[in-house]
Amino acid sequence: MANDTGLPLLHETPETGALPHGGDLLRLPFDNSYARLPDRFFARLAPTPVGGPRLMKLNRGLAEELGLDADALSSRAGVAMLAGNRIAEGSEPIALAYAGHQFGNFVPQLGDGRAILLGEVVDRRGRRRDIQLKGSGPTPFSRRGDGRAAVGPVLREYIVSEAMAALGIPTTRSLAAVLTGEPVYRETALPGAVLTRVASSHIRVGTFQFFAAREDVEALRLLADHVIDRHYPDARDEAQPYRALFERVIARQAGLVARWMLVGFIHGVMNTDNCSIAGETIDYGPCAFMDHYDPKTVFSSIDHGGRYAYANQPRIAHWNLARFGETLLPLIADDAEAALAIANESLGTYQRLYGEALMSGMRRKVGLFTAEDGDAALIQDLLTAMAESEADFTLTFRRLDPELDISARALFSQPESYDAWAVRWRERLAHEPQDAATRRQAMRSVNPAYIPRNHRVEAALAAAVEGDYAPFEELLTVLARPFEDRLEYAAYGEPPSAGQRVCQTFCGT
Ligand code: AMP
Ligand code: MG
Repeated sequence: MANDTGLPLLHETPETGALPHGGDLLRLPFDNSYARLPDRFFARLAPTPVGGPRLMKLNRGLAEELGLDADALSSRAGVAMLAGNRIAEGSEPIALAYAGHQFGNFVPQLGDGRAILLGEVVDRRGRRRDIQLKGSGPTPFSRRGDGRAAVGPVLREYIVSEAMAALGIPTTRSLAAVLTGEPVYRETALPGAVLTRVASSHIRVGTFQFFAAREDVEALRLLADHVIDRHYPDARDEAQPYRALFERVIARQAGLVARWMLVGFIHGVMNTDNCSIAGETIDYGPCAFMDHYDPKTVFSSIDHGGRYAYANQPRIAHWNLARFGETLLPLIADDAEAALAIANESLGTYQRLYGEALMSGMRRKVGLFTAEDGDAALIQDLLTAMAESEADFTLTFRRLDPELDISARALFSQPESYDAWAVRWRERLAHEPQDAATRRQAMRSVNPAYIPRNHRVEAALAAAVEGDYAPFEELLTVLARPFEDRLEYAAYGEPPSAGQRVCQTFCGT
Protein backbone atom coordinates (compact mmCIF):
# COMPACT_ATOMS: atom_id res chain seq x y z
CA MET A 1 0.00 0.00 0.00
CA ALA A 2 1.45 3.30 -1.03
CA ASN A 3 1.23 5.58 1.93
CA ASP A 4 1.88 9.20 1.20
CA THR A 5 2.67 10.64 4.59
CA GLY A 6 3.20 14.17 3.34
CA LEU A 7 0.73 16.95 3.94
CA PRO A 8 -2.47 16.90 1.94
CA LEU A 9 -2.03 18.46 -1.47
CA LEU A 10 -3.98 21.51 -2.33
CA HIS A 11 -5.48 21.18 -5.75
CA GLU A 12 -7.12 24.06 -7.45
CA THR A 13 -8.44 24.10 -10.97
CA PRO A 14 -8.41 27.34 -12.95
CA GLU A 15 -12.24 27.49 -12.80
CA THR A 16 -12.37 27.65 -9.05
CA GLY A 17 -9.34 29.85 -8.59
CA ALA A 18 -8.11 31.35 -5.36
CA LEU A 19 -10.76 33.15 -3.43
CA PRO A 20 -10.43 36.63 -1.99
CA HIS A 21 -11.02 35.25 1.48
CA GLY A 22 -8.56 32.44 1.08
CA GLY A 23 -10.04 29.45 2.89
CA ASP A 24 -12.07 31.59 5.30
CA LEU A 25 -15.41 30.91 3.70
CA LEU A 26 -14.80 27.25 4.14
CA ARG A 27 -13.64 27.04 7.67
CA LEU A 28 -15.18 23.75 8.72
CA PRO A 29 -14.60 22.81 12.36
CA PHE A 30 -12.65 19.66 11.52
CA ASP A 31 -11.30 17.45 14.27
CA ASN A 32 -9.88 14.37 12.59
CA SER A 33 -9.53 11.59 15.12
CA TYR A 34 -9.14 8.78 12.59
CA ALA A 35 -6.30 10.58 10.81
CA ARG A 36 -4.43 10.56 14.13
CA LEU A 37 -4.29 6.76 14.08
CA PRO A 38 -1.09 5.18 12.70
CA ASP A 39 -0.28 5.45 9.01
CA ARG A 40 -1.14 1.85 8.23
CA PHE A 41 -4.84 2.62 8.83
CA PHE A 42 -5.17 4.69 5.67
CA ALA A 43 -3.44 6.39 2.77
CA ARG A 44 -3.15 10.14 2.79
CA LEU A 45 -4.12 11.69 -0.49
CA ALA A 46 -6.25 14.44 -1.91
CA PRO A 47 -9.24 13.91 -4.17
CA THR A 48 -8.50 14.17 -7.89
CA PRO A 49 -9.80 17.47 -9.27
CA VAL A 50 -12.53 17.47 -11.89
CA GLY A 51 -13.13 19.68 -14.90
CA GLY A 52 -16.55 21.20 -14.40
CA PRO A 53 -18.02 20.93 -10.91
CA ARG A 54 -21.71 21.82 -10.65
CA LEU A 55 -23.92 21.46 -7.62
CA MET A 56 -26.92 19.22 -8.19
CA LYS A 57 -28.17 19.12 -4.63
CA LEU A 58 -27.23 20.43 -1.24
CA ASN A 59 -28.95 19.09 1.86
CA ARG A 60 -29.43 22.35 3.72
CA GLY A 61 -31.15 20.72 6.68
CA LEU A 62 -28.25 18.36 7.20
CA ALA A 63 -25.72 21.18 6.75
CA GLU A 64 -27.53 23.03 9.52
CA GLU A 65 -27.48 19.95 11.76
CA LEU A 66 -23.74 19.69 11.19
CA GLY A 67 -23.21 23.32 12.04
CA LEU A 68 -22.01 24.08 8.51
CA ASP A 69 -22.90 27.18 6.55
CA ALA A 70 -25.12 26.05 3.68
CA ASP A 71 -24.50 29.26 1.74
CA ALA A 72 -20.76 28.77 1.98
CA LEU A 73 -21.14 25.16 0.85
CA SER A 74 -23.11 26.20 -2.20
CA SER A 75 -20.69 29.01 -3.07
CA ARG A 76 -18.07 28.49 -5.74
CA ALA A 77 -15.49 27.55 -3.10
CA GLY A 78 -17.93 25.23 -1.38
CA VAL A 79 -18.83 23.40 -4.56
CA ALA A 80 -15.11 23.14 -5.38
CA MET A 81 -14.64 21.41 -2.04
CA LEU A 82 -17.61 19.10 -2.59
CA ALA A 83 -16.18 18.16 -5.98
CA GLY A 84 -12.73 17.46 -4.57
CA ASN A 85 -11.12 20.44 -6.28
CA ARG A 86 -10.30 22.28 -3.14
CA ILE A 87 -9.20 21.16 0.29
CA ALA A 88 -10.86 23.13 3.07
CA GLU A 89 -8.78 24.32 5.96
CA GLY A 90 -8.42 21.65 8.61
CA SER A 91 -9.31 18.81 6.27
CA GLU A 92 -6.86 15.87 6.26
CA PRO A 93 -8.03 13.75 3.35
CA ILE A 94 -7.46 10.01 3.70
CA ALA A 95 -8.61 6.80 2.04
CA LEU A 96 -9.34 4.15 4.67
CA ALA A 97 -7.85 0.66 4.58
CA TYR A 98 -10.23 -2.26 5.02
CA ALA A 99 -10.73 -5.84 3.97
CA GLY A 100 -13.94 -7.83 3.69
CA HIS A 101 -15.89 -10.91 2.76
CA GLN A 102 -17.57 -10.30 -0.57
CA PHE A 103 -20.36 -12.82 -1.18
CA GLY A 104 -18.63 -15.07 1.35
CA ASN A 105 -15.11 -14.85 -0.11
CA PHE A 106 -12.46 -13.10 1.91
CA VAL A 107 -10.54 -10.29 0.20
CA PRO A 108 -7.64 -9.18 2.44
CA GLN A 109 -7.47 -5.72 0.92
CA LEU A 110 -10.35 -3.62 -0.33
CA GLY A 111 -10.29 -0.12 1.13
CA ASP A 112 -11.73 3.16 -0.08
CA GLY A 113 -11.22 2.71 -3.80
CA ARG A 114 -13.28 5.70 -4.76
CA ALA A 115 -13.92 7.52 -1.52
CA ILE A 116 -11.91 9.99 0.49
CA LEU A 117 -12.61 11.01 4.04
CA LEU A 118 -12.21 14.78 4.25
CA GLY A 119 -12.39 14.79 8.02
CA GLU A 120 -14.69 14.74 11.01
CA VAL A 121 -16.83 17.47 12.49
CA VAL A 122 -18.71 17.51 15.76
CA ASP A 123 -22.32 18.37 15.00
CA ARG A 124 -24.68 20.67 16.90
CA ARG A 125 -25.74 17.83 19.18
CA GLY A 126 -22.14 16.93 19.99
CA ARG A 127 -22.01 13.87 17.72
CA ARG A 128 -18.84 13.25 15.73
CA ARG A 129 -19.61 12.83 12.02
CA ASP A 130 -17.40 11.80 9.10
CA ILE A 131 -17.55 13.89 5.95
CA GLN A 132 -16.53 11.80 2.98
CA LEU A 133 -16.47 12.27 -0.76
CA LYS A 134 -17.52 9.27 -2.82
CA GLY A 135 -16.50 9.16 -6.46
CA SER A 136 -13.58 11.51 -5.89
CA GLY A 137 -10.92 9.73 -7.92
CA PRO A 138 -8.55 6.79 -7.63
CA THR A 139 -6.73 5.87 -4.45
CA PRO A 140 -4.11 3.22 -3.63
CA PHE A 141 -7.11 0.93 -2.97
CA SER A 142 -8.78 1.33 -6.36
CA ARG A 143 -7.52 -1.95 -7.83
CA ARG A 144 -8.89 -1.87 -11.38
CA GLY A 145 -11.58 0.72 -10.68
CA ASP A 146 -11.51 4.32 -11.90
CA GLY A 147 -12.33 5.83 -8.52
CA ARG A 148 -15.38 7.55 -9.97
CA ALA A 149 -19.14 7.32 -9.67
CA ALA A 150 -21.90 7.94 -12.19
CA VAL A 151 -24.71 10.36 -11.55
CA GLY A 152 -27.38 7.62 -11.28
CA PRO A 153 -25.88 5.68 -8.35
CA VAL A 154 -24.94 8.95 -6.61
CA LEU A 155 -28.50 10.22 -6.71
CA ARG A 156 -29.86 6.77 -5.82
CA GLU A 157 -27.77 6.83 -2.64
CA TYR A 158 -28.92 10.39 -1.97
CA ILE A 159 -32.60 9.48 -2.32
CA VAL A 160 -32.57 6.20 -0.46
CA SER A 161 -30.29 7.23 2.41
CA GLU A 162 -32.35 10.36 3.04
CA ALA A 163 -35.55 8.30 2.85
CA MET A 164 -34.14 5.88 5.43
CA ALA A 165 -33.28 8.79 7.71
CA ALA A 166 -36.83 10.14 7.41
CA LEU A 167 -38.14 6.67 8.28
CA GLY A 168 -36.07 6.88 11.46
CA ILE A 169 -33.66 4.10 10.47
CA PRO A 170 -29.98 4.54 11.37
CA THR A 171 -28.12 5.42 8.20
CA THR A 172 -25.34 7.37 6.61
CA ARG A 173 -26.63 10.65 5.21
CA SER A 174 -26.17 12.59 2.01
CA LEU A 175 -24.96 16.16 2.29
CA ALA A 176 -24.45 16.99 -1.36
CA ALA A 177 -24.27 15.69 -4.90
CA VAL A 178 -22.20 17.44 -7.56
CA LEU A 179 -21.65 16.78 -11.22
CA THR A 180 -18.00 16.53 -12.18
CA GLY A 181 -18.42 17.69 -15.75
CA GLU A 182 -16.52 14.57 -16.79
CA PRO A 183 -17.84 11.32 -18.18
CA VAL A 184 -17.41 7.96 -16.50
CA TYR A 185 -17.33 4.88 -18.63
CA ARG A 186 -19.52 1.96 -17.57
CA GLU A 187 -21.48 0.08 -20.21
CA THR A 188 -21.82 3.48 -21.83
CA ALA A 189 -20.44 6.94 -21.06
CA LEU A 190 -22.37 8.51 -18.19
CA PRO A 191 -22.11 11.86 -16.42
CA GLY A 192 -19.76 11.60 -13.46
CA ALA A 193 -20.75 12.76 -9.99
CA VAL A 194 -19.46 12.98 -6.44
CA LEU A 195 -21.57 12.32 -3.36
CA THR A 196 -20.75 13.87 0.00
CA ARG A 197 -21.59 11.24 2.55
CA VAL A 198 -21.95 11.84 6.27
CA ALA A 199 -21.59 8.94 8.71
CA SER A 200 -21.08 8.37 12.41
CA SER A 201 -17.93 6.72 11.14
CA HIS A 202 -16.84 4.65 8.17
CA ILE A 203 -15.43 1.86 10.31
CA ARG A 204 -16.68 -1.50 9.12
CA VAL A 205 -16.38 -5.13 10.13
CA GLY A 206 -13.94 -5.20 7.23
CA THR A 207 -11.72 -2.61 8.93
CA PHE A 208 -11.16 -5.06 11.79
CA GLN A 209 -10.68 -7.88 9.30
CA PHE A 210 -7.93 -5.90 7.56
CA PHE A 211 -5.78 -5.97 10.68
CA ALA A 212 -6.83 -9.44 11.80
CA ALA A 213 -5.70 -10.83 8.44
CA ARG A 214 -2.29 -9.26 9.07
CA GLU A 215 -2.21 -10.55 12.66
CA ASP A 216 -1.64 -6.95 13.69
CA VAL A 217 -2.97 -7.15 17.24
CA GLU A 218 -1.61 -3.74 18.16
CA ALA A 219 -3.66 -2.13 15.39
CA LEU A 220 -6.73 -4.16 16.38
CA ARG A 221 -6.44 -2.85 19.91
CA LEU A 222 -6.01 0.74 18.73
CA LEU A 223 -9.00 0.37 16.42
CA ALA A 224 -11.17 -1.22 19.10
CA ASP A 225 -10.22 1.53 21.56
CA HIS A 226 -11.01 4.17 18.96
CA VAL A 227 -14.42 2.59 18.34
CA ILE A 228 -15.18 2.33 22.04
CA ASP A 229 -14.29 5.98 22.62
CA ARG A 230 -16.26 7.08 19.63
CA HIS A 231 -19.35 4.87 19.54
CA TYR A 232 -19.64 2.81 22.72
CA PRO A 233 -17.99 4.76 25.54
CA ASP A 234 -19.91 2.86 28.23
CA ALA A 235 -18.17 -0.37 27.15
CA ARG A 236 -15.03 1.07 28.70
CA ASP A 237 -16.51 0.71 32.18
CA GLU A 238 -17.33 -2.96 31.77
CA ALA A 239 -15.17 -5.72 33.25
CA GLN A 240 -14.35 -6.91 29.70
CA PRO A 241 -14.48 -3.86 27.42
CA TYR A 242 -13.79 -5.72 24.15
CA ARG A 243 -16.43 -8.29 24.86
CA ALA A 244 -18.77 -5.44 25.74
CA LEU A 245 -17.87 -3.78 22.44
CA PHE A 246 -18.75 -6.97 20.57
CA GLU A 247 -22.08 -7.24 22.35
CA ARG A 248 -22.99 -3.63 21.67
CA VAL A 249 -22.24 -3.99 17.98
CA ILE A 250 -24.34 -7.17 17.93
CA ALA A 251 -27.23 -5.31 19.55
CA ARG A 252 -27.03 -2.41 17.10
CA GLN A 253 -26.87 -4.66 14.05
CA ALA A 254 -29.74 -6.81 15.33
CA GLY A 255 -31.84 -3.68 15.80
CA LEU A 256 -30.83 -2.28 12.43
CA VAL A 257 -31.66 -5.37 10.40
CA ALA A 258 -34.99 -5.67 12.20
CA ARG A 259 -35.76 -2.11 11.10
CA TRP A 260 -34.93 -3.02 7.51
CA MET A 261 -37.23 -6.01 7.65
CA LEU A 262 -40.06 -3.91 9.03
CA VAL A 263 -40.04 -1.56 6.03
CA GLY A 264 -39.19 -4.10 3.32
CA PHE A 265 -35.70 -2.75 2.68
CA ILE A 266 -33.24 -4.99 0.86
CA HIS A 267 -29.67 -3.83 1.20
CA GLY A 268 -28.46 -5.98 -1.65
CA VAL A 269 -24.77 -6.29 -0.83
CA MET A 270 -24.30 -7.15 2.83
CA ASN A 271 -20.61 -7.90 2.52
CA THR A 272 -18.62 -7.46 5.73
CA ASP A 273 -17.03 -4.32 4.29
CA ASN A 274 -20.53 -2.86 4.05
CA CYS A 275 -21.38 -3.64 7.66
CA SER A 276 -20.96 -0.54 9.81
CA ILE A 277 -19.56 -0.91 13.31
CA ALA A 278 -21.68 2.06 14.38
CA GLY A 279 -24.78 0.18 13.24
CA GLU A 280 -25.81 2.48 10.40
CA THR A 281 -27.09 1.42 7.03
CA ILE A 282 -24.13 2.01 4.74
CA ASP A 283 -23.29 1.59 1.08
CA TYR A 284 -26.37 2.09 -1.01
CA GLY A 285 -25.44 0.19 -4.14
CA PRO A 286 -28.09 -2.13 -5.50
CA CYS A 287 -30.45 -1.62 -2.56
CA ALA A 288 -34.21 -1.40 -3.09
CA PHE A 289 -37.54 -1.59 -1.30
CA MET A 290 -39.83 -4.49 -1.90
CA ASP A 291 -43.20 -3.74 -3.50
CA HIS A 292 -45.31 -6.92 -3.22
CA TYR A 293 -44.34 -9.13 -0.33
CA ASP A 294 -42.08 -12.00 -1.31
CA PRO A 295 -39.43 -13.06 1.20
CA LYS A 296 -37.19 -14.32 -1.60
CA THR A 297 -36.97 -10.92 -3.26
CA VAL A 298 -33.57 -10.04 -4.71
CA PHE A 299 -32.89 -6.95 -6.81
CA SER A 300 -29.14 -6.94 -7.27
CA SER A 301 -28.05 -8.06 -10.71
CA ILE A 302 -24.93 -9.68 -9.27
CA ASP A 303 -26.64 -11.63 -6.46
CA HIS A 304 -27.28 -14.75 -8.51
CA GLY A 305 -27.67 -17.14 -5.59
CA GLY A 306 -29.96 -14.82 -3.63
CA ARG A 307 -27.44 -14.69 -0.77
CA TYR A 308 -28.69 -11.23 0.16
CA ALA A 309 -32.40 -11.82 -0.47
CA TYR A 310 -34.86 -10.05 1.86
CA ALA A 311 -35.45 -13.04 4.13
CA ASN A 312 -31.74 -13.88 4.38
CA GLN A 313 -30.73 -10.52 5.82
CA PRO A 314 -31.01 -11.45 9.52
CA ARG A 315 -28.92 -14.60 8.96
CA ILE A 316 -26.31 -12.69 6.98
CA ALA A 317 -26.00 -10.03 9.68
CA HIS A 318 -25.37 -12.83 12.16
CA TRP A 319 -22.73 -14.30 9.85
CA ASN A 320 -21.06 -10.90 9.49
CA LEU A 321 -21.05 -10.46 13.26
CA ALA A 322 -19.38 -13.85 13.64
CA ARG A 323 -16.62 -12.58 11.34
CA PHE A 324 -16.36 -9.46 13.49
CA GLY A 325 -16.11 -11.59 16.64
CA GLU A 326 -13.25 -13.58 15.13
CA THR A 327 -11.21 -10.43 14.71
CA LEU A 328 -11.68 -9.54 18.39
CA LEU A 329 -10.55 -12.92 19.78
CA PRO A 330 -6.98 -11.83 20.59
CA LEU A 331 -8.37 -8.87 22.53
CA ILE A 332 -11.07 -10.79 24.38
CA ALA A 333 -8.76 -13.24 26.18
CA ASP A 334 -5.15 -14.41 25.99
CA ASP A 335 -6.20 -18.02 25.83
CA ALA A 336 -7.60 -18.72 22.36
CA GLU A 337 -10.14 -21.27 23.49
CA ALA A 338 -11.38 -19.10 26.30
CA ALA A 339 -11.74 -16.18 23.90
CA LEU A 340 -13.73 -18.30 21.47
CA ALA A 341 -16.08 -19.49 24.19
CA ILE A 342 -16.73 -15.93 25.34
CA ALA A 343 -17.27 -14.64 21.80
CA ASN A 344 -19.67 -17.47 21.02
CA GLU A 345 -21.65 -16.76 24.12
CA SER A 346 -21.91 -13.11 23.07
CA LEU A 347 -22.89 -14.03 19.55
CA GLY A 348 -25.62 -16.19 21.05
CA THR A 349 -27.45 -13.02 22.11
CA TYR A 350 -28.11 -12.02 18.51
CA GLN A 351 -31.04 -14.31 17.84
CA ARG A 352 -32.97 -13.10 20.87
CA LEU A 353 -32.19 -9.43 20.26
CA TYR A 354 -33.15 -9.64 16.63
CA GLY A 355 -36.29 -11.63 17.40
CA GLU A 356 -37.40 -9.14 20.03
CA ALA A 357 -36.76 -6.13 17.83
CA LEU A 358 -38.64 -7.71 14.95
CA MET A 359 -41.59 -8.83 17.04
CA SER A 360 -42.03 -5.57 18.87
CA GLY A 361 -41.87 -3.73 15.56
CA MET A 362 -44.33 -6.11 13.93
CA ARG A 363 -46.70 -5.83 16.87
CA ARG A 364 -46.72 -2.07 16.44
CA LYS A 365 -47.33 -2.46 12.72
CA VAL A 366 -50.51 -4.45 13.34
CA GLY A 367 -51.65 -2.22 16.17
CA LEU A 368 -50.79 -4.35 19.20
CA PHE A 369 -49.57 -2.60 22.32
CA THR A 370 -49.48 -5.69 24.52
CA ALA A 371 -47.83 -9.07 23.96
CA GLU A 372 -49.61 -12.42 23.83
CA ASP A 373 -48.31 -15.87 22.98
CA GLY A 374 -50.16 -16.22 19.72
CA ASP A 375 -48.91 -12.91 18.26
CA ALA A 376 -46.01 -14.36 16.30
CA ALA A 377 -48.30 -16.86 14.60
CA LEU A 378 -50.89 -14.19 13.88
CA ILE A 379 -48.29 -11.97 12.24
CA GLN A 380 -46.71 -14.85 10.35
CA ASP A 381 -50.09 -15.83 8.99
CA LEU A 382 -50.66 -12.33 7.68
CA LEU A 383 -47.27 -12.43 5.95
CA THR A 384 -48.02 -15.84 4.47
CA ALA A 385 -51.34 -14.58 3.12
CA MET A 386 -49.60 -11.50 1.72
CA ALA A 387 -47.00 -13.67 -0.01
CA GLU A 388 -49.65 -15.96 -1.51
CA SER A 389 -51.64 -12.97 -2.70
CA GLU A 390 -48.66 -10.87 -3.80
CA ALA A 391 -50.00 -8.08 -1.61
CA ASP A 392 -48.02 -4.86 -1.48
CA PHE A 393 -45.92 -4.87 1.71
CA THR A 394 -46.05 -1.16 2.50
CA LEU A 395 -49.67 -0.56 1.54
CA THR A 396 -51.03 -3.62 3.34
CA PHE A 397 -49.75 -2.34 6.67
CA ARG A 398 -50.65 1.24 5.89
CA ARG A 399 -54.22 0.27 5.08
CA LEU A 400 -54.84 -2.18 7.90
CA ASP A 401 -57.89 -0.90 9.71
CA PRO A 402 -60.20 -3.13 11.72
CA GLU A 403 -63.11 -0.83 10.99
CA LEU A 404 -62.54 -0.58 7.30
CA ASP A 405 -61.36 -3.81 5.72
CA ILE A 406 -62.00 -2.88 2.15
CA SER A 407 -58.82 -1.00 1.36
CA ALA A 408 -56.37 -3.61 2.70
CA ARG A 409 -58.49 -6.44 1.36
CA ALA A 410 -58.28 -5.03 -2.16
CA LEU A 411 -54.52 -5.61 -2.17
CA PHE A 412 -54.92 -9.39 -1.94
CA SER A 413 -55.37 -11.45 -5.08
CA GLN A 414 -57.13 -13.97 -2.81
CA PRO A 415 -59.19 -11.64 -0.60
CA GLU A 416 -60.75 -14.52 1.36
CA SER A 417 -57.36 -15.17 2.94
CA TYR A 418 -57.35 -11.58 4.19
CA ASP A 419 -60.91 -11.95 5.49
CA ALA A 420 -60.04 -15.10 7.45
CA TRP A 421 -57.04 -13.40 8.97
CA ALA A 422 -58.92 -10.21 9.80
CA VAL A 423 -61.44 -12.15 11.88
CA ARG A 424 -58.61 -13.43 14.10
CA TRP A 425 -56.97 -10.01 14.14
CA ARG A 426 -60.13 -8.32 15.39
CA GLU A 427 -60.47 -10.94 18.11
CA ARG A 428 -56.93 -10.22 19.19
CA LEU A 429 -57.43 -6.44 19.08
CA ALA A 430 -60.38 -6.85 21.45
CA HIS A 431 -57.83 -7.72 24.18
CA GLU A 432 -56.06 -4.39 23.69
CA PRO A 433 -56.62 -1.51 26.07
CA GLN A 434 -56.24 1.25 23.45
CA ASP A 435 -59.18 2.87 21.77
CA ALA A 436 -59.47 2.73 18.00
CA ALA A 437 -58.32 6.32 17.39
CA THR A 438 -55.13 5.90 19.44
CA ARG A 439 -54.37 2.64 17.71
CA ARG A 440 -54.98 4.08 14.30
CA GLN A 441 -52.68 6.99 15.04
CA ALA A 442 -49.97 4.69 16.40
CA MET A 443 -50.15 2.42 13.36
CA ARG A 444 -49.86 5.34 10.99
CA SER A 445 -46.75 6.53 12.77
CA VAL A 446 -44.92 3.24 12.10
CA ASN A 447 -46.37 2.14 8.76
CA PRO A 448 -45.14 4.56 6.09
CA ALA A 449 -47.32 5.71 3.24
CA TYR A 450 -44.29 6.50 1.11
CA ILE A 451 -41.12 4.49 0.52
CA PRO A 452 -38.62 5.01 -2.30
CA ARG A 453 -40.31 2.66 -4.67
CA ASN A 454 -37.89 1.41 -7.24
CA HIS A 455 -39.84 2.54 -10.30
CA ARG A 456 -40.03 6.07 -8.89
CA VAL A 457 -36.32 6.10 -8.05
CA GLU A 458 -35.39 4.86 -11.51
CA ALA A 459 -37.64 7.44 -13.19
CA ALA A 460 -36.09 10.25 -11.13
CA LEU A 461 -32.58 9.09 -12.00
CA ALA A 462 -33.36 8.73 -15.69
CA ALA A 463 -34.68 12.30 -15.78
CA ALA A 464 -31.69 13.63 -13.82
CA VAL A 465 -29.24 12.02 -16.23
CA GLU A 466 -30.99 14.09 -18.91
CA GLY A 467 -30.64 17.24 -16.79
CA ASP A 468 -34.22 17.33 -15.47
CA TYR A 469 -34.07 17.36 -11.67
CA ALA A 470 -37.76 18.05 -11.05
CA PRO A 471 -38.74 14.37 -10.47
CA PHE A 472 -35.71 13.91 -8.17
CA GLU A 473 -36.67 16.97 -6.13
CA GLU A 474 -40.32 15.98 -5.92
CA LEU A 475 -39.41 12.46 -4.83
CA LEU A 476 -37.20 13.88 -2.07
CA THR A 477 -40.07 16.11 -0.94
CA VAL A 478 -42.44 13.15 -0.72
CA LEU A 479 -39.97 10.89 1.07
CA ALA A 480 -39.00 13.51 3.63
CA ARG A 481 -42.38 12.97 5.38
CA PRO A 482 -43.12 9.30 4.83
CA PHE A 483 -45.84 8.91 7.46
CA GLU A 484 -48.03 11.78 6.33
CA ASP A 485 -50.68 11.24 3.66
CA ARG A 486 -50.60 14.13 1.24
CA LEU A 487 -53.27 14.18 -1.40
CA GLU A 488 -51.15 15.85 -4.03
CA TYR A 489 -48.57 13.05 -3.75
CA ALA A 490 -50.98 10.12 -3.49
CA ALA A 491 -49.59 8.55 -6.65
CA TYR A 492 -46.21 8.09 -4.93
CA GLY A 493 -47.86 5.67 -2.52
CA GLU A 494 -49.01 3.39 -5.30
CA PRO A 495 -47.16 0.22 -6.25
CA PRO A 496 -45.87 -0.01 -9.82
CA SER A 497 -48.17 -1.34 -12.51
CA ALA A 498 -46.96 -4.49 -14.25
CA GLY A 499 -45.32 -2.34 -16.92
CA GLN A 500 -43.61 -0.04 -14.41
CA ARG A 501 -41.99 -2.73 -12.31
CA VAL A 502 -38.20 -2.52 -12.01
CA CYS A 503 -36.91 -5.87 -10.84
CA GLN A 504 -33.17 -5.39 -11.11
CA THR A 505 -30.68 -2.95 -9.66
CA PHE A 506 -27.00 -2.49 -10.38
CA CYS A 507 -24.05 -1.53 -8.22
CA GLY A 508 -23.03 0.94 -10.88
CA THR A 509 -19.35 0.58 -9.99
P1 AMP B 1 -18.86 -1.85 -2.93
O1 AMP B 1 -19.34 -3.11 -3.57
O2 AMP B 1 -19.43 -0.60 -3.54
O3 AMP B 1 -19.02 -1.87 -1.45
O4 AMP B 1 -17.30 -1.74 -3.24
C1 AMP B 1 -16.41 -2.77 -2.96
C2 AMP B 1 -15.00 -2.29 -3.17
O5 AMP B 1 -14.78 -1.88 -4.50
C3 AMP B 1 -14.58 -1.11 -2.30
O6 AMP B 1 -13.25 -1.31 -1.93
C4 AMP B 1 -14.73 0.06 -3.24
O7 AMP B 1 -13.92 1.14 -2.88
C5 AMP B 1 -14.29 -0.55 -4.56
N1 AMP B 1 -14.84 0.16 -5.71
C6 AMP B 1 -16.12 0.14 -6.11
N2 AMP B 1 -16.27 0.90 -7.22
C7 AMP B 1 -15.07 1.41 -7.52
C8 AMP B 1 -14.56 2.27 -8.56
N3 AMP B 1 -15.34 2.77 -9.52
N4 AMP B 1 -13.25 2.58 -8.53
C9 AMP B 1 -12.45 2.09 -7.58
N5 AMP B 1 -12.85 1.28 -6.61
C10 AMP B 1 -14.14 0.93 -6.56
MG1 MG C 1 -18.64 -0.82 0.08
